[in-house]
Amino acid sequence: MSSALPPCPECQSEYTYHDGTRLVCPECAHEWNEGEEQDQLSLKDSVGNKIVEGDKVTLVKDLKVKGTSTVLKVGTKAVIKRIVEGDHDIDCKVDGAGPMMLKSSVVKKA
Ligand SMILES: [Zn+2]
Repeated sequence: MSSALPPCPECQSEYTYHDGTRLVCPECAHEWNEGEEQDQLSLKDSVGNKIVEGDKVTLVKDLKVKGTSTVLKVGTKAVIKRIVEGDHDIDCKVDGAGPMMLKSSVVKKA
Protein backbone atom coordinates (compact mmCIF):
# COMPACT_ATOMS: atom_id res chain seq x y z
CA MET A 1 0.00 0.00 0.00
CA SER A 2 1.56 3.23 -1.07
CA SER A 3 1.51 6.24 1.18
CA ALA A 4 -0.48 9.25 0.13
CA LEU A 5 1.24 11.45 2.66
CA PRO A 6 2.98 14.49 1.27
CA PRO A 7 6.75 14.81 1.54
CA CYS A 8 8.25 16.92 4.30
CA PRO A 9 8.10 20.59 3.29
CA GLU A 10 11.39 21.22 5.05
CA CYS A 11 13.65 18.46 3.79
CA GLN A 12 11.49 16.70 1.17
CA SER A 13 11.73 13.40 3.06
CA GLU A 14 9.14 10.88 1.91
CA TYR A 15 9.06 9.10 5.27
CA THR A 16 6.49 11.38 6.85
CA TYR A 17 3.84 9.88 9.10
CA HIS A 18 0.67 10.83 10.93
CA ASP A 19 0.85 11.59 14.61
CA GLY A 20 -2.78 12.10 15.48
CA THR A 21 -3.78 15.17 13.52
CA ARG A 22 -0.30 16.29 12.68
CA LEU A 23 2.23 15.13 10.15
CA VAL A 24 5.72 14.42 11.36
CA CYS A 25 9.02 14.09 9.53
CA PRO A 26 11.33 11.51 11.15
CA GLU A 27 14.38 12.90 9.38
CA CYS A 28 14.36 16.56 10.41
CA ALA A 29 11.69 16.41 13.16
CA HIS A 30 9.54 18.98 11.40
CA GLU A 31 5.86 18.84 12.38
CA TRP A 32 3.00 20.49 10.61
CA ASN A 33 -0.75 20.31 10.25
CA GLU A 34 -2.15 18.41 7.35
CA GLY A 35 -3.13 20.81 4.60
CA GLU A 36 -0.55 23.32 5.67
CA GLU A 37 2.03 21.92 3.33
CA GLN A 38 0.16 23.46 0.43
CA ASP A 39 0.78 26.88 1.88
CA GLN A 40 4.12 27.20 0.20
CA LEU A 41 5.42 30.68 0.76
CA SER A 42 4.66 32.78 -2.25
CA LEU A 43 4.68 36.40 -3.18
CA LYS A 44 3.52 38.56 -6.02
CA ASP A 45 6.10 40.00 -8.35
CA SER A 46 5.95 43.50 -9.82
CA VAL A 47 3.22 42.55 -12.27
CA GLY A 48 1.22 40.27 -10.00
CA ASN A 49 2.63 36.87 -10.98
CA LYS A 50 2.92 34.38 -8.15
CA ILE A 51 6.56 33.72 -7.34
CA VAL A 52 7.88 30.95 -5.14
CA GLU A 53 11.26 29.72 -3.97
CA GLY A 54 13.29 28.39 -6.88
CA ASP A 55 11.69 30.65 -9.46
CA LYS A 56 13.82 32.52 -11.94
CA VAL A 57 13.17 36.22 -12.08
CA THR A 58 14.55 39.28 -13.81
CA LEU A 59 14.90 42.80 -12.47
CA VAL A 60 12.37 45.34 -13.69
CA LYS A 61 14.45 48.36 -12.73
CA ASP A 62 18.06 49.37 -12.24
CA LEU A 63 19.20 48.70 -8.71
CA LYS A 64 22.14 50.28 -7.03
CA VAL A 65 23.89 47.82 -4.76
CA LYS A 66 24.13 49.34 -1.32
CA GLY A 67 27.64 50.36 -0.35
CA THR A 68 29.10 49.84 -3.82
CA SER A 69 29.15 51.59 -7.18
CA THR A 70 27.64 48.52 -8.80
CA VAL A 71 24.33 48.95 -10.57
CA LEU A 72 22.28 45.92 -11.47
CA LYS A 73 20.61 46.60 -14.78
CA VAL A 74 17.03 45.98 -15.78
CA GLY A 75 16.76 42.43 -17.06
CA THR A 76 19.48 41.03 -14.80
CA LYS A 77 18.60 37.44 -13.98
CA ALA A 78 18.23 36.10 -10.46
CA VAL A 79 17.01 32.93 -8.77
CA ILE A 80 14.87 33.09 -5.65
CA LYS A 81 16.57 31.04 -2.97
CA ARG A 82 14.28 31.86 -0.10
CA ILE A 83 11.20 33.88 0.65
CA VAL A 84 11.35 35.72 3.92
CA GLU A 85 9.29 38.23 5.84
CA GLY A 86 10.22 41.85 5.81
CA ASP A 87 10.86 44.74 3.53
CA HIS A 88 13.35 42.89 1.37
CA ASP A 89 11.36 39.71 1.09
CA ILE A 90 13.30 37.58 -1.37
CA ASP A 91 16.74 36.12 -0.83
CA CYS A 92 18.14 35.82 -4.34
CA LYS A 93 21.22 34.72 -6.16
CA VAL A 94 21.77 37.46 -8.70
CA ASP A 95 23.66 36.82 -11.93
CA GLY A 96 27.05 38.45 -11.69
CA ALA A 97 26.43 39.82 -8.19
CA GLY A 98 25.88 36.81 -5.98
CA PRO A 99 23.47 36.42 -3.08
CA MET A 100 21.37 39.44 -2.28
CA MET A 101 18.15 40.40 -0.53
CA LEU A 102 15.69 42.03 -2.90
CA LYS A 103 12.12 43.24 -2.86
CA SER A 104 9.54 41.23 -4.75
CA SER A 105 8.33 44.52 -6.20
CA VAL A 106 11.50 44.96 -8.28
CA VAL A 107 11.42 41.59 -10.02
CA LYS A 108 9.33 39.86 -12.62
CA LYS A 109 8.97 36.12 -13.08
CA ALA A 110 11.22 35.04 -15.96
ZN1 LIG B 1 11.87 16.77 7.11
